[in-house]
Amino acid sequence: MILYFSGTGNSAYVAKRIGKMINDEVVHLFEKIKDNDFSPLQSKRPWVIVVPTYAWRIPRIVEYWLKNTPLQGNQDIYFVMTCGGSIGNAGKYIEKLCQNIKMNNRGCMEIIMPENYIAMFSTPTKEEASKIIDRAEKVIDLAAVCIKNGQSFKHPNVSFNDKISSSVINKLFYPLFVHAKKFYVLDDCISCGACESECPVGAISMGDDHYQINADECISCGACAGVCPVGAPKEA
Ligand code: SF4
Ligand code: SF4
Repeated sequence: MILYFSGTGNSAYVAKRIGKMINDEVVHLFEKIKDNDFSPLQSKRPWVIVVPTYAWRIPRIVEYWLKNTPLQGNQDIYFVMTCGGSIGNAGKYIEKLCQNIKMNNRGCMEIIMPENYIAMFSTPTKEEASKIIDRAEKVIDLAAVCIKNGQSFKHPNVSFNDKISSSVINKLFYPLFVHAKKFYVLDDCISCGACESECPVGAISMGDDHYQINADECISCGACAGVCPVGAPKEA
C-alpha cells in the first residue's frame, strides 16, 4: 500500500505514478492526519511512504502518524522523498523510525522535483521544470522497479553537509520556518471554504469577514494555496 502526504502536489504525483506502475492501492494521508485517525492498516504488499522533504527529513507530522498507527501484514517499508534539492541525511532518521515502529527499512529514494514550496523558495521556469521532471521520471521508474522486485533502495552517499542539514539545521528550521507565520490569507478571499477542508491540521477557519490561518497550527504545507481559486493564501 502506498501512503502519501502532499501539500503542493509533487508527492501526490510520485505516489500515484508508483501506484500505477506496481498496481497497488494509493492512500492520501491528509484525512487520517486531520482526523487523528490512528486505526490499524493492513497490506499484504510492502508499505511505500511518499512524502515531501521538510528540513532534510520526513515531515514530523507524518513521523508522528507512523509512530502511532499500526501497519499490519507486510513488515517491509520503503520511503520515497520528493525535494527541490536534497533529502540530506534523512535516511538515518528513517532507520531510527523503522526501529521504533518495528518495520523492515527497505531504504529511502530521493526524487528531485521542481521546487514548489512557495513559502521559502522561488519556483523554476517552465523549461527548467520540464527538464527536472524528465530526470525525476527515471528515478520514479527505478523506485517502482525496486519495489516490484522486492529489492532495497540503494543506500545514498551522505556528505558532512547532509548530516548537518538533517540534524542541527532541522532543529533550527522547524521553529523558524515551519511554524513561523509563513502563510496568511489576503482580503481577496471569497470564503469558498475549499482551503478549510484541504488543510491537514485544521489550521483554517472562518474569521470576521474571510477565512484565516492559525499560524500556530499551520505547518506550511502549501495545500491551501494549491486549492484556492483566487490565490488568497500567501506566504509572509
Ligand atoms: Fe498547509 Fe498551513 Fe495552508 Fe493548512 S494553513 S493547508 S497547514 S499551509
Ligand atoms: Fe478563501 Fe481561497 Fe480559502 Fe476559498 S480557498 S476560503 S477563497 S482562502
